[in-house]
Amino acid sequence: MSSAPGFSFRVHPLFWLVIGASVLTGAFVETVLLLSLVVMHELGHVWTGRAYGWRFRALTLFPFGGVAETDDEVGQYSPREEIVVALAGPAVNGAMAGVAWVCAAGELWPEAWARQFAAANLWLAGFNLLPIWPLDGGRVVHAVASLACPYRLALTITFGWSASVALLVLVWAWTAPQPRLHLLLLCLWLYREAASGYHERRLRFFRFLFARWRRGGDGPLRVVRADSSWTVLEALRHIKRGRHHRFELRAGGRRTGALTERRLLDALFRDKAPARRLLELVKG
Ligand SMILES: [Zn+2]
Repeated sequence: MSSAPGFSFRVHPLFWLVIGASVLTGAFVETVLLLSLVVMHELGHVWTGRAYGWRFRALTLFPFGGVAETDDEVGQYSPREEIVVALAGPAVNGAMAGVAWVCAAGELWPEAWARQFAAANLWLAGFNLLPIWPLDGGRVVHAVASLACPYRLALTITFGWSASVALLVLVWAWTAPQPRLHLLLLCLWLYREAASGYHERRLRFFRFLFARWRRGGDGPLRVVRADSSWTVLEALRHIKRGRHHRFELRAGGRRTGALTERRLLDALFRDKAPARRLLELVKG
């Protein structure tokens, strides 16, 4: 179902399975309430992202949450904006829990109902803040890692960390006194997403480099001290998001030249020479 040109609204087949199961188990109202909170949560991401000029491709609803997909697969948006957009979803749930609390205090809503509404919102916000990619908490981990480290390392940290935490939660869910099937499935899905991100980190890194080659670097200049014996690919592993780079070459403590990020990307994509040494490049 398409709601606007270039933006699609998708519902995962498992979602319908959960709705069907909720009808059978008599929990239909609770399930629909939870799913509408999920939609509000996702709209929090979409509205905040759009305020930054982000473009969203799709909003997909899973049984346990949603994913608002942007067109940014190559790290073009600012990590600081990413943090705000990631936190906007849980913030919407926090605000709704606050409204429920105020309405209960003002005796506008029955207390039991307000308590259930607030608890569902807080559960949703808390779950999404787990530091596991692609949950919101995992996106914050990625943005913070991108601010602190070069992008290639940030990818390894994000997915390595996420897969480890997902595995821990999976073990916890499995060994809990009353293991719950939906929690186990959820943990398995999270682990699979994080692990496949880890295996695809090199591919993501190349997409990021290719996008920079096409678009050019952005943000303030960052000078990288490079050893002349580094290869093109080794040097490019030092590139950070939101910066453009100049590589100051040194050999034996002596400055031997400088190369722009652009020159290195040309060597990689135009000359197909990822293993060329920087020294050869500066001479040639
Ligand atoms: Zn979210």
